Parts: sequence; structure tokens; C-alpha cells
Amino acid sequence: MNVRDSEAAAALLSAAGYEQAASEADADLVIVNSCSVRAKAEEKALGKLGLLCASRRDHPGRLVGLMGCMAQRLGEAIFKKIPGLDFSVGTRRAGAIPRLVARVLAGERGLLETSSQDEIPDVPDAHVEDMGFSAFVTILLGCNRRCAYCIVPDVRGREYSRPAREILAEIAALARHGVREVTLLGQSVMNYGRMNPVWDETDPPSPGGYREPFPRLLEAVAAIPGVLRIRFTSGHPSGCTDELVRAMASLPQVCHHLHLPVQSGSDPILKAMRRGYTRERYLEAVGKLRAAMPDFALTTDVIVGFPGETEADFEATRTLMDEAGFDNAFIFKYSPRPGTPAAQMPDDVSDEEKMRRNQVLLADQDRRGSALNEALVGTVQEVLVEGRSLRNAERWAGRSPGNKIVVFDPVEGLEPGTLAKVAITRAAPQTLYGEVVR
Ligand code: SAH
Ligand code: SF4
Repeated sequence: MNVRDSEAAAALLSAAGYEQAASEADADLVIVNSCSVRAKAEEKALGKLGLLCASRRDHPGRLVGLMGCMAQRLGEAIFKKIPGLDFSVGTRRAGAIPRLVARVLAGERGLLETSSQDEIPDVPDAHVEDMGFSAFVTILLGCNRRCAYCIVPDVRGREYSRPAREILAEIAALARHGVREVTLLGQSVMNYGRMNPVWDETDPPSPGGYREPFPRLLEAVAAIPGVLRIRFTSGHPSGCTDELVRAMASLPQVCHHLHLPVQSGSDPILKAMRRGYTRERYLEAVGKLRAAMPDFALTTDVIVGFPGETEADFEATRTLMDEAGFDNAFIFKYSPRPGTPAAQMPDDVSDEEKMRRNQVLLADQDRRGSALNEALVGTVQEVLVEGRSLRNAERWAGRSPGNKIVVFDPVEGLEPGTLAKVAITRAAPQTLYGEVVR
């Protein structure tokens, strides 16, 4: 989501007449886009801002700004931490960036622009040129869920879904500029259109008879010429409705892949986290997706060391991860966030223990991921061809519908930005290798 927001900020500044610098060292203006989700992310942003302000010794007059979650969370306090900061702009006011830059150029300093929780956000379009083949498109902003550990609802505000027409126009423009794969973004992306209306009577009816706003959006995106692939993230089990599963299984452009963060496999911890599902409900949702899509790929997020997480809770997470059969998993050590309900609970799992649990889950995932990749040897995967492989320029690479990197030898007539069928001949833990089949 921050990648998308940074692209939008760059697009706004280009439209205002600024030119993108070739490198950070060349830049007269640097804006740090920040994340507040864990303490470490904020520490990194603060460190970077300090270095940038100090870099004015070699780069006099350089402007330094902050955007994103930390700007929204800290408000005025950021100027105490980073006295040299020129401006700070919160999550729903990205549209103000060119105006703030102009004011700083006119001599003002320490400008702050943040928003209330329910303000309708600015959603500037991203760059449409030189985007490559894949682009992120934010469809839902904010979050109404309030998981006990999470700062996102405080810093990104109440849920707001962009009108479908606006999203479809943005994607059509991206597709005209060569984008072939879009990833639709939202914290609970399947909640799209549940809090505010996104379709109106003048929109054409859904050809497939979809009544829920999100599956209907998937169908409309799939109809845009040039869009070969659609992904979306993050999912929640409550959004895995029959309609959603039908849309995923029947719209050829929608990848059979879902990022469905589970966070824990233990019911007491899920309850304390206020995730809104049990282990059983989560596995039920996974079962439904797999039943409709035999080639379905599943990825997840897990938090280790949530307050009160015992060894038994942790073991429950391990067994759940096996039962669910995750293709990939991001593991996070619990980090108390100021003002969240979990921050009131004792952070009682030691840092060493969080580290150990983190390592155990990573090792489990390595084994599981390798075995799942091995099982793909002998299959034919449809790959969105990206071009030369990063590791070996002689070979080409692309991604499978399950989002795995596939490396292969280029063949006559194969163009980047098209779909190719690749027979998988070998698997490594993070990569598949194969040959193009005609
Ligand atoms: N909206 C998404 C998650 C967004 S935050 C969802 O509900 O799934 C991305 C990930 O960061 C979360 O899935 C969680 O695993 C992790 N995370 C969020 N808050 C955290 C915290 N306080 N400590 C550690 N990890 C956290
Ligand atoms: Fe945070 Fe939960 Fe919302 Fe995800 S669903 S952003 S974890 S509050």
C-alpha cells in the first residue's frame, strides 16, 4: 500500500512540474513514506529522516518531508523528534503534497497536514507511464476491524471504498500504458463496498449476476481490455463468500491465489487478538477455496509472541500452518503499539522467545514451501513474462498464478508482458525452473 502511495505522490509532483531525480543523492526534495505497524518500521524512518536532515551539509537547501502512517500518528510531535523536517503529511491528505512543497520553497517550515478518522481521503492516481507490467491499485482505504494489536485503524482511519467507476478508469488507463497485472489493495479488501455505496444505478448490471460489491468489481476489472491478471490483498475469512469463490474460480483473469493472514492458530489467542474467526472457521474458508480451485495457492501473515501466547498456543499455530498448507508466510514478532488494546496487556513473551518462535516457523515454512514447490515439478504453469531474470540475464523470469518466480530460457517470439505456458522441470525453495511449451 505504501508503494502505491509513493507512486501517487511522485505522480502528483510530476504533474506539478517537478522532475524525478536519478538517485537519492541527486534529489533536492526527499519524502520518506512511513509505516507504523511495528516499532522497528518507525525507528527506521526516524533514522532515515535524521540522516537526510544531516545530509544538508553536502546538499544545501535540500527539502525533507514525511508522509504516511507515522506522520498521521505523531502529528506535531514529529517536529520535536526531527527538528529539521520541512513538512509532514498524513495518510488521507496526500493530495496536499505539491502545495506543501510550494510553501516550503517560499520559505515556510514545519508544516503539518493530517486528517480526521472519517474524512474522505485523497486518492491521487498513480503514475501511468513506465509502470512495468504490474501495478497496485488501492480500492479500500482505512480499516474498521480493530484487531487488538493493530495501529492501522488509528493511522489510516475509517474504512472508505472508492467508487467502482473511479477504480475502473484508473485500471483502464494503466492497461493502456502496458500494465497487464493489477493487485487490488485494502486492509480487509473483501469489505469493499460494505461501508459506503460504490456502484450506482447508472453503472451497467453485472453480467454474471454478482450482487456483492467486491466480486462484481473483480468481474468488471476482468472485462478491461489488456488486463491479463488480477490479484487482491489482504483477505479475511469472513469475505470468502460463495460469490467471491465463484468469481475467483470462474473469471480467468483472477489468479488462484489469496493472501489470507491468519496471525495465530490458537483460539484463545485469536480471541484476544479480536480477529473475528476461530481456527476452524479459518480452515473452513481455506477448504472452500481449495474445493473450488484445485490449484489454489495460499499465503499468510503470522504474529509470534502476542501477549499470553503459551508454548501450547504456539504449537497450535504450527499445526494450523501445516493443515492450511501455506505456500509462503510472513512471520512477525509481536510489537506493542501505543494506544492499541494489546498495548495494555503485559508483553510477556521475551524477545529471545519471540525470536526462537520466529525461527521455528521460518524453518517449518521453508520445508513446507519446498515440498509444495517440488510437487509442482511436472505441471505446466501459466507465467506472466517479465523479461530477463535478475540472477541470470541469459534466462527469463516471470510469475505463476500462485505468485512464484519461474525461470526459463527465452524462445523466439516470446514477448515480455504476455502469458506463456512453462513446463516445470526443477524446484528450489523460492523458485521454479522450466521450459516454455507451445
Ligand atoms: N489488514 C491486514 C494486515 C495489515 S498489517 C490483515 O488484517 O490481515 C500487516 C501485518 O503486520 C499483519 O498481518 C500482522 O501480521 C502484522 N502486524 C500488525 N500489527 C502488528 C504488531 N503490533 N506487531 C507485530 N506484527 C504486527
Ligand atoms: Fe489491522 Fe486487523 Fe485492520 Fe488488518 S484487519 S489492518 S490487522 S485492524
